[in-house]
Amino acid sequence: MTNGFRVGDDLGPAKIIHVHEPGLGLEAVLVIDNVACGPSIGGLRMAADVSTEECLRLARAMTLKNSAAGLAHGGGKSVLRGDPRMPRARKEQLIRAFAHALRNERDYIFGPDMGTDEACMAWVKDEIGHAVGLPAVLGGIPLDEIGATGWGLFHAAEVAARHLGLELYDARVVVQGFGAVGRHAARFLATRGAILVAASDSQGAIVDERGLDVAALAKLKNDGRPLSDSAEGRKVDRDAVIDVDCDIFIPAARPDIIRDDNVGRLRTKLVLEGANIPFTPGAEKFLHERGVLVLPDFIANAGGVICAAMEYSGLTQMAAFQAIEEKIRANVEAVLEAVKLRNVLPRDAAIALATERVRSAMATRRFGII
Ligand code: NAD
Repeated sequence: MTNGFRVGDDLGPAKIIHVHEPGLGLEAVLVIDNVACGPSIGGLRMAADVSTEECLRLARAMTLKNSAAGLAHGGGKSVLRGDPRMPRARKEQLIRAFAHALRNERDYIFGPDMGTDEACMAWVKDEIGHAVGLPAVLGGIPLDEIGATGWGLFHAAEVAARHLGLELYDARVVVQGFGAVGRHAARFLATRGAILVAASDSQGAIVDERGLDVAALAKLKNDGRPLSDSAEGRKVDRDAVIDVDCDIFIPAARPDIIRDDNVGRLRTKLVLEGANIPFTPGAEKFLHERGVLVLPDFIANAGGVICAAMEYSGLTQMAAFQAIEEKIRANVEAVLEAVKLRNVLPRDAAIALATERVRSAMATRRFGII
């Protein structure tokens, strides 16, 4: 919504800051969407084609994700234009200059996102004194290495399975995108006796109805090799995992992978969205109408951001795992209760829950809410 001056709605954005240093070739934007729950946390995305519009959308997504996760943080996001594979010295110069330009902005905490990593967050911290997603030597918790998001997906699965009357023991799991999120989700589910029957990466997929060795596949990926190098299972095309009969389907690769044109091929009872917006709205609705439970991304995959917020509070890895377990279980329960009571889509129930929390927080502020 725009009135010619203001962009947005009654939740935000609170601030949009454009940073332009022509001499340096720095073009970047920070959007702080809403800070009613606390200072905003959101990643710094670096790509050649980023825009203010994209930043606005991502910042709102962070407001909802952080409040749905029950964190004392609002939502924000920053984008920096440039190829993230540029020479390291040049990348460091741009990121340091952007952070320096925002040195007085107290309502935003930088985190890593597409095109940035823990080394970039170390540069930010060096410039302005704080950031999340830091290297371990600076107090960071290596969330991809320990599987923070996979741990959250596992707890989401436990709660959802109970609601569906599904046993995790012997449940057949398909993971689309066997990366940091997907492989840890498979690993934690295997500890409850679930069986990984298919997994894919960008180059291909493997299937074995009797079960794949999760640890062996994780080692292969850690060594930088594709799943198709595995001696296990049948090799199939990457997208053939969509056709594999299963109880739990975990999309953990890219956005919009399941759409109106391929959702009819899925045969599952539960979908745990590990990636961000992996299903189109039409695909989620289609499955809901057929009795398949689809737990939306910002509820199911919040383990990473919860971990980052705990790191910011100075907590240990073990405390972060406890917080992820507690918050994700409570949020999945709340969403499933609302779905049952009001017969709405899980995503709509989750958005309502998150928005309600933001509005309650706004009501406590000096300027309140109308
Ligand atoms: P990653 O790069 O470690 O893994 C992604 C995997 O997906 C890789 O193995 C890649 O080969 C595979 N892949 C890419 N395209 C594919 C396709 N079309 N079909 C099948 N596999 C494909 O990334 P990640 O950290 O695991 O993140 C995965 C997704 O989850 C991303 O969308 C990310 O934004 C989102 N996410 C990540 C976290 C986190 O904690 N890392 C948290 C929330 C959301």
